Amino acid sequence: MIFDKIVGMFSNDMGIDLGTANTLVLVKGEGIIINEPSVVAVKKDKFGRQKILAVGHEAKEMVGKTPGDINAVRPMKDGVIADFDMTEKMIRYFIEKAHSRKAFIRPRVIICVPYGLTQVERKAVRESALSAGAREVFLIEEPMAAAIGAGLPVKEPQGNLVVDIGGGTTEIGVISLGGLVICKSVRTAGDKIDKAIIDYIKKKYNLLIGDRLAEEIKINIGTAMPLEKPLKMIVNGRDQVGGLLSSIELTSEDIIEAMKDPLKEIADALKDVLEKMPPELAGDIVENGIVLTGGGALIRNLDRYLSEIVRLPVFVSEEPLLAVAKGTGKALEEIELLQQLSNE
Ligand code: ADP
Ligand code: MG
Repeated sequence: MIFDKIVGMFSNDMGIDLGTANTLVLVKGEGIIINEPSVVAVKKDKFGRQKILAVGHEAKEMVGKTPGDINAVRPMKDGVIADFDMTEKMIRYFIEKAHSRKAFIRPRVIICVPYGLTQVERKAVRESALSAGAREVFLIEEPMAAAIGAGLPVKEPQGNLVVDIGGGTTEIGVISLGGLVICKSVRTAGDKIDKAIIDYIKKKYNLLIGDRLAEEIKINIGTAMPLEKPLKMIVNGRDQVGGLLSSIELTSEDIIEAMKDPLKEIADALKDVLEKMPPELAGDIVENGIVLTGGGALIRNLDRYLSEIVRLPVFVSEEPLLAVAKGTGKALEEIELLQQLSNE
């Protein structure tokens, strides 16, 4: 036991942003050491059971390039755990990968999970981390970590509003005095926006494109509001009618139209939270504005678009894709406090 205590003192604590699209691992004193897609490559064996072949970058690379029926699965895709076994393997892979980089000895781990996870799902995440060698596991909510990572004064008696737009979920949180006062999680985020782009191109141009290309279009020319100089992109796909390969030129104006519905859903969710806001905190938001984090915050002009709808200032955090991981890192610095709180 004494030995355990001594080695424990030397182990490096670890923070994990277990996102629906990307998982980031951060080590105290080192920063972010892993940033990989939350993807598992699986193959069905002859009994129909799914066998896990790879996780992360390797899994994403395998898909489409390996003969046979290998599929990419995102076990947390909609902010819920679709497959416990795969989620466990994924968490284990990330912890072990961080382990092997440095000789960790049973680290304490803070895992940031989507707000919508049930108690059963949380328990599964915690147990996966323990079985992968964590000494202690603490879970924190994604909007809280996002707010901390965006540098908001979450501990002050002041309202802070953060909108984290990830792959599977958009999580909106109002934080004051270190706690989540209101939180709303909707399943409209990056994936649904990509899907809307696919549907739009199919309907308007009779062209079929895949998920990856849709995401590329969104990133390259997507915008929430008109640009002074519209962007253009040539897109190849399969013609729905003739079945032949063909190409079209898309403009950013097309993508405004394509993304209209999902962006409106995000704006509606934000309006809903603002309506539920206690009046004492509402004043703070009027003054300080709303902060956007997560990969979706990088959509061009999304800040302006939301700002016009809710008539409040909206800002994009610095490095929005890293905000949650950074927030988890800051929480690591206060792990003793977390420990006290969770023992109560
Ligand atoms: P999660 O926390 O759910 O893992 P992330 O915060 O990592 O999600 O964000 C992933 C989402 O952000 C994806 O849908 C991705 O397409 C989107 N994204 C990443 N970069 C950009 C960009 N430059 N413009 C628009 N969307 C982006
Ligand atoms: Mg996230």
